[in-house]
Amino acid sequence: MPIGDPDKRRIAATHLLYVKVCRKCYARNALYATKCRRCKSKRLRLKKRVATKK
Ligand SMILES: [Zn+2]
Repeated sequence: MPIGDPDKRRIAATHLLYVKVCRKCYARNALYATKCRRCKSKRLRLKKRVATKK
């Protein structure tokens, strides 16, 4: 679904990309999380921010 409005696009990208992903169970966690909310693992990584096509 293409989003024309750049402001909306930026907000959507922020919400989709600025999350942490657990390396153990792949649950999505808040950016500020230090532990996985699902398995309590500390092995979190930032979701990769790949440049999106327009
Ligand atoms: Zn986990």
